[in-house]
Amino acid sequence: MSDLWLTTIVYGNLPDFGPIDQAARRARELGMTPHLLSMPFGHPVAIDFDHGAFHPACKPVQRAGGYQGWGGSFHHPLDEILAEENRKLYERFGPCDHFLDDDFRLADSPGSVGGCVCPQCEEAYCRAAGLTRQRWNELLDDLRGNNPSELHRQWVDYQCDLLYGCFRRLEEAAPEVDLGIMVMYMGSERSGIRLDAYREKLFRVGELMFSDRDYDPTINKTRELFSVLTHRRFSLPGRTFSETTNFPDNALSKENMASKLAVSTFADVRNTMFMCCVPADYWPFFEPKMKKEARYQEILKNHPAKGPFKHYWGDAARYFIGDVSNSLFLAAGVPFEVCSELPDDGWTFLGENDARALERGEIASKGTKCFARTDSRTGRFEKMDETFESLFAFRRTILPRLRRENIPYIEEEVPIVLGWYPDARAALLWNLQKSAVTVHLRRGEQTAATEIPPLETALAREGADGGWTFI
Ligand SMILES: [Zn+2]
Repeated sequence: MSDLWLTTIVYGNLPDFGPIDQAARRARELGMTPHLLSMPFGHPVAIDFDHGAFHPACKPVQRAGGYQGWGGSFHHPLDEILAEENRKLYERFGPCDHFLDDDFRLADSPGSVGGCVCPQCEEAYCRAAGLTRQRWNELLDDLRGNNPSELHRQWVDYQCDLLYGCFRRLEEAAPEVDLGIMVMYMGSERSGIRLDAYREKLFRVGELMFSDRDYDPTINKTRELFSVLTHRRFSLPGRTFSETTNFPDNALSKENMASKLAVSTFADVRNTMFMCCVPADYWPFFEPKMKKEARYQEILKNHPAKGPFKHYWGDAARYFIGDVSNSLFLAAGVPFEVCSELPDDGWTFLGENDARALERGEIASKGTKCFARTDSRTGRFEKMDETFESLFAFRRTILPRLRRENIPYIEEEVPIVLGWYPDARAALLWNLQKSAVTVHLRRGEQTAATEIPPLETALAREGADGGWTFI
């Protein structure tokens, strides 16, 4: 462990610095670098009213759907107060890293569209956007009905401007502090987070499966990987941190928690940040696995993953209601790649908002074949159940082509995430099952077998003769 993050601002309030100074001193004595973390607005779901009263400048939020509560919002002058507090943190701690926690957002949950519609916010927005009362009511209808109108999109853009404006005010008040944003699971523009604006910043990717109950289902592993891959499209690997969390305490087994390191390897997230208590007996279990993943990451870093299955999460998916990705393809034993637009080849598995955007003609395929889920309300696409049965049945139809085109794949029909890095002449395999599995990695006529322990990864290198060796 090299760095320690100390909580400072909570709900707009500066803390009692005594215990924080003490913890920072102790961290330095132990050879660790102390940094700062803040919960500036209050988490909309996990608010702990006993932990600290809200700053008087904090106000409750009112959502378009009628919900009223606290957190996940700010009203001027809280932004100025936070900027001043960031300057005070700099004066006390000097240059340091400072992460704003994932309450630094303007929506309650990953799938909901944010923004406050209280009278103060309504007046400010109508003035800024030149909206009449009638158009404001149309906007509220669009927000409630998830209507992807221009009015709706402009509202989301305005929320992104608000939040980034607040971020910039904090930065400008203390330019020596390296300010970062922690983005919640699938967090994006609909929550006021214009992902591209934070590309150069310290960035924490969004994870969610914090307990065994959430992490055990295979599809939730692929959803978590999908979220992290999405965020890494918008961040720099060396400036990116994981959101490794065990919540409530001890709800995530050490085996599951360690296996999340694989997500960081696939997404090239270079820093692991534990956002929780790590029980003492977890550390000896983690040590060899952390070393192994670090070794794999060193081999794979800066080499893009390539493959015929496409990861795509477009503007519509990021702007409108809905955070459910179509992610199980990641575990079908076929290499995948992350795309920022619909590509000209391969097969792309769309979430509902992107499928509808494609149907409306807002985006176009350059040649990739798109699948929507069977429950999609779109009309003109081929659809596929998000199940292994359907994915593997489809896979059988494309295997001759994969062999012909010299694309590697896993011969067995078992849940394996396969990353292929042609530039590094390497392939990374992740066994998503809680039992060991023996698999064959095949490329063309070459195969190599290995047994992968439960939830573990394995790395294969390709020799000059085209043969594969697991290292
Ligand atoms: Zn408001």
